[in-house]
Amino acid sequence: MACKSEDVLKSLVEEARKVANEGKVANYIPALQKENPEHLSCAIVYPNGNCVSAGDIKRRFTLQSISKIINLALVLMDYGPEHVFHRVGMEPTGDPFNSIIKLETSSKAKPLNPMINAGALAVTSMMKGSNAEDKVEYILDFVRKLTNEPNIDYCEEVAISEFTTSFLNRSLCFYMKGDGVIHGNVEEIMEVYTKHCAIRLNCLQLARMGAVFAMDGINPLTNERVMPKEVARICKTFMVTCGMYNASGEFAIKIGIPAKSGVSGGIMGSVPGRMGIGIFGPPLNEVGNSHTGLKLLELLQDKYDLSMF
Ligand code: GLU
Repeated sequence: MACKSEDVLKSLVEEARKVANEGKVANYIPALQKENPEHLSCAIVYPNGNCVSAGDIKRRFTLQSISKIINLALVLMDYGPEHVFHRVGMEPTGDPFNSIIKLETSSKAKPLNPMINAGALAVTSMMKGSNAEDKVEYILDFVRKLTNEPNIDYCEEVAISEFTTSFLNRSLCFYMKGDGVIHGNVEEIMEVYTKHCAIRLNCLQLARMGAVFAMDGINPLTNERVMPKEVARICKTFMVTCGMYNASGEFAIKIGIPAKSGVSGGIMGSVPGRMGIGIFGPPLNEVGNSHTGLKLLELLQDKYDLSMF
């Protein structure tokens, strides 16, 4: 059994916090740079719904790239793998998350996987709904179901901050649209994308989402199935192969669990059959993963042997 007591987790969080000054809070989305680099919080949710936590777990942050997993689960449920993987691939890229280079060098601008921005934008373009508002509400409803929190919403300030500065993501959309890989209105796709990236929750709610994937699609708080096992399996596989940006191979070797990070400093971990983990630590390393979050996961792995390999 991992993490027997809250006291152990608290001491590991204090240990990990010591490396806060080695990372840098994201500033390319202007609203994110206000975060305190010293903040570190973590929650773990077990299959029986019990939880342990450490740090200021009430503190909320935005999902950013973690929302890519949620959206992937939704489109897989709505259209099935064949349809989805016709538009977006299954392979890691080794490139930064916002890179355009592989779109240009492949014969058609089909993004290599749904965890890089190009792939996530292609997934967003498939979202069900007749307008941006419907689509965002549809995603929010799913997050509310995964977290058991009916009040989850997005942060308007972060969404606007990204929407008004997101020139590279717009370019990715236009590039893919030019090649017929995505359809629809780019401004609407950007609105839905920046709003789902700005969905705001705390690390306990994030750990609950992680636990659903860890439990093959069953919500451990309600015992309700919220996604098919097959969808949870595909999402966890992407979390292993490309969930931690272009450092996913190193992460698989050092920590060895399905995980997805976001540039806000969040990390969602799903240890199959064992636990969901939610971490929020804003300072990032050079590839965009939470530096204190990674340190904490390393400490947890050393102590409790989390790796699935
Ligand atoms: N909204 C962010 C972007 O598109 C998400 C990136 C991330 O968390 O990796 O740049």
